[in-house]
Amino acid sequence: MKCHVCGADLHNITTDLPFKTGLKSIVIIKDIPVFQCGNCSEYLIDDAVMEKIDAILSRADIHAELEIFSYAA
Ligand SMILES: [Zn+2]
Repeated sequence: MKCHVCGADLHNITTDLPFKTGLKSIVIIKDIPVFQCGNCSEYLIDDAVMEKIDAILSRADIHAELEIFSYAA
């Protein structure tokens, strides 16, 4: 797959990403498989991965300021 910004090759990596779930709530999901561009900082998340992220976020406590989940769990 190619980067839609610069056209360089994308590499399959795992990374930790923060998601804002409310005004003061942030959920960090660890070890998410993403496609990272080797040339710029752009990354892509697969639809199936995004669905699982949504499922994880729906389990998050909206009143907690910070929660950390593992993608693989
Ligand atoms: Zn790029």
